[in-house]
Amino acid sequence: MAGRNHLYIPGPTNVPNEVLNAMHVTMEDHRSPVFPKLLTPLLQDLKKIFKTETGQCFIFPATGTAGWEVALTNTLNPGDKVLIYRFGQFSHLWAEMGKRLGFDVEIHQVAWGKGIPLDHLEARLKEDSQHTIKAVLATHNETATGVTSDIGGVRKAMDAAGHPALLFVDGVSSIASIDFRMDEWGVDGAISGSQKGFMMPAGGAFLAFSQKALKLVETCTYPRCFLDLKDQMNTNKDGYTPYTPALPILYGLRKALDLLLEEGMENVYARHYRLAEGTRKAVAAWGLKTCAQPGFESNTVTAVMVPEDKDARTVIATAFSKYNMSLGGGLSELLGKAFRIGHVGDMNDVSMLGAIAGVEMALLDNGFDIKPGSGVAAAIEYYRSTAK
Ligand code: PLP
Repeated sequence: MAGRNHLYIPGPTNVPNEVLNAMHVTMEDHRSPVFPKLLTPLLQDLKKIFKTETGQCFIFPATGTAGWEVALTNTLNPGDKVLIYRFGQFSHLWAEMGKRLGFDVEIHQVAWGKGIPLDHLEARLKEDSQHTIKAVLATHNETATGVTSDIGGVRKAMDAAGHPALLFVDGVSSIASIDFRMDEWGVDGAISGSQKGFMMPAGGAFLAFSQKALKLVETCTYPRCFLDLKDQMNTNKDGYTPYTPALPILYGLRKALDLLLEEGMENVYARHYRLAEGTRKAVAAWGLKTCAQPGFESNTVTAVMVPEDKDARTVIATAFSKYNMSLGGGLSELLGKAFRIGHVGDMNDVSMLGAIAGVEMALLDNGFDIKPGSGVAAAIEYYRSTAK
């Protein structure tokens, strides 16, 4: 089909040309005396994205899933208890990983559409007077449901309970696009990946750990090898890596960080809010509902629920085959019940309007009772009135 495929899934996201070009490099010796000039500033500048001064950043040639594993296996001992709220496919998968790795995973189910219940968390931690819970695993932005949880609130609940558990946060679809403050929120391990807000291909797991977490790495008895933070620390301190780095990912990251920091993180967050808000206005104008309940709406992805007599898969199939546009599917419990519009990464008002127009055409083609142009008109109004 002529024209490029319009990628509106919540990762991988559109890669800016500047990043693509920056990745187009010949290979080089990663043990050369000049390699640290690339790696060391990357690890420093990542701290600005995670908003940490006291923590330490790491880059693994891997994806977000590996980041979950790094956090668990470098700080906890086999059989340790961790607490997680399950409210979407990604919090589900992190909980499952914990079980598969032999941790004692305490799972609390939350209706899909809501995020971490802070009162429940505080009460549960108060009850755990023996401090058997060693870590709280918090999914900041549940990509499956388009739900954002309040991580500052999680920290407050942990403090109110006087509980010393580690706080690990999955920020794969939030960090570099939704407000994230590692130090202020007392996050001990923050996990992200290259293919969403960082606007790069998959292949880089970007992580940050607090000094509290890094102290535990010394004594942690969980067996690990490829994902060992100690090996990273021992080599990163001189500007090197324990094994062959994914060079194009590092060069892409250099450019992506330059772009993000040049725009300014507060502006990046505000842009994502506007992209999301225009999308939500369109969804409301179509008379449809988001999976996210009020107060939990994500600024990087909107999961749109379809009426019971419809199948969201047909909307996605039409969008792809007829309009060369990719939307995200409903995952697990939302299969067929929702489609997802990604509004994360290298996007602006006009690219978002393209997405909304494409969804609208696919909805009309599938017999949805909507007024042609209604979603686009609502978004246009919003974008025009809020553009600077
Ligand atoms: N966590 C969240 C919130 C995600 O959205 C994803 C992937 O989409 C992951 C974790 C897993 O990351 P990856 O696919 O990079 O391993």
